[in-house]
Amino acid sequence: VFKNNLTFFAAAKVSSSFPPADLPEIAFAGRSNVGKSSLLNALTRRWGVVRTSDKPGLTQTINFFNLGSKLSLVDLPGYGFAYAKEEVKDSWEELVKEYVSTRVGLKRVCLLIDTKWGMKLRDYELINLMERSQTKYQIVLTKTDVVFPIDVARRAMQIEETDEYHCSFLILLISFLIEDDGKLQVWCWHPKPENG
Ligand code: GDP
Repeated sequence: VFKNNLTFFAAAKVSSSFPPADLPEIAFAGRSNVGKSSLLNALTRRWGVVRTSDKPGLTQTINFFNLGSKLSLVDLPGYGFAYAKEEVKDSWEELVKEYVSTRVGLKRVCLLIDTKWGMKLRDYELINLMERSQTKYQIVLTKTDVVFPIDVARRAMQIEETDEYHCSFLILLISFLIEDDGKLQVWCWHPKPENG
């Protein structure tokens, strides 16, 4: 969890409005509703700074957040939003692709996958793109609380087994629960800690 202050500093709808890449960046990608905003809020302990929504596809811009002038966290628009018009989908995807394959200073993309649903076509498309552009990425399985632990393990294994890719394919499992008293519980663990 990052303790530095998180400040929003730019939103870009087109690549020409990306801010200068002065800081190292970590970007978060995934299908709409995968739990991306929840993760960003939890990581920065700033519940509400990054908008969460039950409406998939709300984030239509690439949002850049500055963490204590040391690191940028980048919220990429969710893809695979079933109700979006085709041209809107295409423009979001183009923007994400352009960011991922050209951004100087991008250190890693955390690709969020819903544990229950697993990897879909658009996730693989993004992985292929990152492979081609040699972008470092890792898989983060989200919402592990809504499936049985055995299914979480199966999903992690399934992703590892079908992995014919080369980047840092480290799988993290995460889950958030808001308890009755309003406290936020966050779990994050690695299925194979001995591998680092
Ligand atoms: P985004 O569209 O990827 O930014 O997804 P959000 O962060 O807005 O989350 C989508 C929905 O999933 C919201 O209703 C969240 O409360 C819920 N959600 C996010 N993370 C978790 C989790 O770890 N467990 C459960 N049960 N629900 C989650």
